[in-house]
Amino acid sequence: DQPVAKKPDWIRVKAPGSPAWRETAAIVKEHRLVTVCEEAGCPNIGECWEKKHATFMILGDTCTRACAFCNVRTGLPGAVNPREPGQVAEAVAKLGLAHVVVTSVDRDDLDDGGARHFAAVIGAIRTASPHTTIEVLTPDFLRKPGALEIVVEAKPDVFNHNLETVPSKYPSVRPGARYFHSVRLLQRAKELDPQLFTKSGIMVGLGETRDEILQLMDDLRSADVDFLTIGQYLQPTRKHHPVIAFPAPQEFSALQEIALAKGFLLASASPLTRSSYHAAEDFAKLKAK
Ligand code: SF4
Ligand code: SF4
Repeated sequence: DQPVAKKPDWIRVKAPGSPAWRETAAIVKEHRLVTVCEEAGCPNIGECWEKKHATFMILGDTCTRACAFCNVRTGLPGAVNPREPGQVAEAVAKLGLAHVVVTSVDRDDLDDGGARHFAAVIGAIRTASPHTTIEVLTPDFLRKPGALEIVVEAKPDVFNHNLETVPSKYPSVRPGARYFHSVRLLQRAKELDPQLFTKSGIMVGLGETRDEILQLMDDLRSADVDFLTIGQYLQPTRKHHPVIAFPAPQEFSALQEIALAKGFLLASASPLTRSSYHAAEDFAKLKAK
């Protein structure tokens, strides 16, 4: 086990529990939904749920992979819930979301990696809330031919897939994944539908160098990726990968500036940035441009 590093002062979060927060929690519970906010133990849950922003995790709460940074349980997942698209769509409508982020566990056990279920969820949200913009944060669909096409054909507004970290850290941090497969997935999504916004994100503090981060930005830009998020890695438990560094907030601002200079349409970098953090506000800003 690795000791959990003490968090620096700048990692301060809003405590959960306000009335609006409780309303979000009640809607999530009522529709029996899984959220990444809870499963990942996200530090922003107090702030996001107060604004009714929850990120839904479909296809169950058990993942076929075991990434070294992730708190989601690993194992053989159960059957896909055919009622889930309707349940998610109803919750999105009740929360009155202008923008929703839908993610999932990895389902290497399914022949399509869960792509058809993603498409069904997108379709159900579109029908129930035609004005809500939809962002999907998908698995890498490694060895699932045709899966990406199914998701893109369902026409989400934003296709998000996180690289999570630089290539040199893949064997220790994201052992089931392949860096250039993930870059290619993002590039292919854009090729399939040039109207689609593409997005990716990484965590820092896993032992990567600044040069490696800058190279990763170039890799994403050559794959035509539009948005980038960069946040601080926090170790969920002693069993997870240790935090190697806590870069200062100024370093995050510098990375954000560099990303914008490299041509990303949106770049968000701060210690508490997560893939879905402020996703609604950022997307609204972009539409207003
Ligand atoms: Fe949920 Fe994303 Fe907000 Fe975290 S940042 S609480 S995962 S919506
Ligand atoms: Fe967690 Fe996703 Fe890795 Fe599964 S694939 S362990 S949900 S980060």
